[in-house]
Amino acid sequence: MERLLSVVVSVYNEEEVLDAFYREVSRILGKVSWDYEILFVNDGSRDGSQEILDGLALRDKRVKVVSFSRNFGHEAAMIAGIDYSRGDGIICMDADLQHPPGCIPEILDRLEEGYQVVSMVRTRNESAGVVKNLASAAFYKVINLLSDAHFESNASDFFAVGRKAADVLRKSYRERVRFLRGYVQNVGFRQTVIEYEAGVRAAGKSKYSIRKLFRFSVNTILCFSNLPLKLGIYAGFLAGLMGFIVLVYTLLTRKGAPSGYATIVILNCFMFAVLFLIVGIIGEYISILFTELKDRPIYIVEDTTNVDEE
Ligand code: UDP
Ligand code: MG
Repeated sequence: MERLLSVVVSVYNEEEVLDAFYREVSRILGKVSWDYEILFVNDGSRDGSQEILDGLALRDKRVKVVSFSRNFGHEAAMIAGIDYSRGDGIICMDADLQHPPGCIPEILDRLEEGYQVVSMVRTRNESAGVVKNLASAAFYKVINLLSDAHFESNASDFFAVGRKAADVLRKSYRERVRFLRGYVQNVGFRQTVIEYEAGVRAAGKSKYSIRKLFRFSVNTILCFSNLPLKLGIYAGFLAGLMGFIVLVYTLLTRKGAPSGYATIVILNCFMFAVLFLIVGIIGEYISILFTELKDRPIYIVEDTTNVDEE
C-alpha cells in the first residue's frame, strides 16, 4: 500500500520563492515511493503569494492551499497545516528553501523505520548571524536548565511527525502561547534526529525580528517551567535571613541603630528591585493565563483550495 506524505509549508509574503520551492520539492518528491500532497498555509500574506498558490493548485491537484483571514504567525500556520493534512507522515518546512528538500528521502526512511518524530537539527546557520546564533544557544541552555522537558538545541521548525504524533498535536497542546517544536519533542514515541545544514534564504527577507524572537523565548520559558514563579519564595527567604543576621548583629554589639543613610537607601532600592521583578514575573504568568482563558481561535481560515473537508 502506498503511503501518503503531507508536506506542510507556512507562507507569509513569499512570492519571490514559491515557484522555486514548488519546483524543487516536486522534483524530489517525484523520486520517492510515497504518494504526496503539498499543503501551503497562507498566513495572511499581503503580496502576490495567494495568486501564485492558486495558480499552482490549479495545475497540480496535489497542491492544497489553506488561507488565513489575517496573519496569525508561523506556529499557527504549522498547526493549521497539521490539522488539515491527511498524510501518514507530515513534514513541516519553511517556504524559503532554508530547509533543504534534499533531506526528504532520508526523513521518509526514518518514518518507514517506525519513528514518530524526526527532529531536524541544524549544524550551521549561515544566514542567521552571530547575534541570532548566540541568542539561540543561550535560549536552549536556559530552557533546558529550567524545564523538566528536554529540548534539542538547534532544533528547527523543520521536523516530521508520524500519524500517532500528529493525532496528539491535533487534539492536545492547543495552547495560545506555544512552542510547537517543544511539544513535538516532548510527546514521546520513538524519536530520532537528523542533522542538516541550513542554507541561505533563496529570496525575500526574514520575517523574524530579534524582538519577536526574544518575546517568543520568554514565553516559551514561562510555558515550560514554573520555576520563575517560585523565585519569590527564595527571595523572601533570603531577605528574611539578611534581616535576621542584621538583627542578631545589632543585639550582640549593642550599638543601637547603625548609622548610614546610604546603606538604607541601597538596601531599599535592592529589595524593591527584587520585589518588582517578582511581581513582573507573576504578571507574565497571569498574562499567559488570561490569554489561554479567553480561548480565542489559534487561526481563522478564510478559504481552502483542493482540500476536501469532511
Ligand atoms: N512565516 C509565517 N508567518 C509569519 C512569519 C513567517 O508563516 O508571521 C513563515 C515564512 O513564510 C517562512 C517561515 O515562516 O516560510 C520562516 O520564516 P523566516 O524564513 O522569515 O524565518 P527565519 O528563517 O529567518 O528564522
Ligand atoms: Mg528562513
